[in-house]
Amino acid sequence: MAAKVISEGAQLAELVKTTARDAGFDVAGCAPVRRFPELAHFPEWLEAGHAGEMHYLESRNAEGELKRSSVEAAFPWARSVVVCAVNYNSAPPYSTAAHDPKRGWIARYAWTREDYHKSVLRNLKQVEERLREVAGECRTLAYVDTGPIVERVYAKYAGVGWIGKNTCVINQQLGSWIFLGVIVTSLELTPSLPAADRCGTCTACIEACPTGALTEPYRMDATRCISYLTIEKRGEIPVKLRSAIRQNVFGCDICQDVCPWNQDAPLGAEPALQPRPELVNPALDWLAAMDHESFANSFRGSPVRRAKLSGLRRNAVLAMGNSGGREFLPRLDQLSTDGDPIVAEHARWAAAKLRE
Ligand code: SF4
Ligand code: SF4
Repeated sequence: MAAKVISEGAQLAELVKTTARDAGFDVAGCAPVRRFPELAHFPEWLEAGHAGEMHYLESRNAEGELKRSSVEAAFPWARSVVVCAVNYNSAPPYSTAAHDPKRGWIARYAWTREDYHKSVLRNLKQVEERLREVAGECRTLAYVDTGPIVERVYAKYAGVGWIGKNTCVINQQLGSWIFLGVIVTSLELTPSLPAADRCGTCTACIEACPTGALTEPYRMDATRCISYLTIEKRGEIPVKLRSAIRQNVFGCDICQDVCPWNQDAPLGAEPALQPRPELVNPALDWLAAMDHESFANSFRGSPVRRAKLSGLRRNAVLAMGNSGGREFLPRLDQLSTDGDPIVAEHARWAAAKLRE
């Protein structure tokens, strides 16, 4: 028997939230498609060069409009965006509590057993299918990071969380260790209440950022952010920023680790998002010694693959230089003539720093 078609926006919005919870999401909401004020800064942010080498952010529609400047520019048929969030927090301590000079730091989101893109999208598809089933004729598109949409702005207007001064989405109950998935739809879903900003007078993230990437509250220059430098940036890392990267080898958690809203954040329950112990605080020696085979085996299905072998080894030797551990000197001297010229150049810099 065909499912009864629901056309009422409020009922559909409620059904989305229930289905999202059944699919393993911790929170979900609906936002209308609008040219929200937060999106108005996007062209100017790109213009200032803050996106660095992330050229995919510059994609435009046939009229030359930046797709990410508004959902209408990418999908003229869209009326609402469903935003679902799942908690990926786990028990290991924060990077700000890790002080072993022999070890590096991989960002918390990349510890998961399965690449979150895959597991979140799988659950999101369940919500999308249910929506199509009950709403009848409609268009939908589901994305986890890959769509031309600034998810965090829609997360705010879907009531999932406010955009903190560290530019992360923060949920009052969960903190900011959340993955977002969005469904763009032609349906008019009754919007949730936007999330109120609860940063108040706090500036802990801005003060803690080692590279000054949070140039002002709510604004980030991605080209200074350790996440960009260690993951997206290919080739040489600017010398002036190398020391500030500290022992971060893939991403950076500092501005989230210091956030008061994360201090008592609950742990996530999704099995696919539980941490792989070997990725928490990995030994720098292990990372620097990797070859194509060990990299492929160790990071199969992991977001860490995005840094590529060369990038991860580059980051590991940089972290050795920042560790203060002179026991790395013989290894760095060897790596100074590595077959990968980027690794070799960073190893020479790291060895010189340790000898200073
Ligand atoms: S992720 Fe790290 S480098 Fe980037 S803004 Fe936050 S603290 Fe700064
Ligand atoms: S550290 Fe403070 S200012 Fe920064 S995001 Fe968290 S609450 Fe907001």
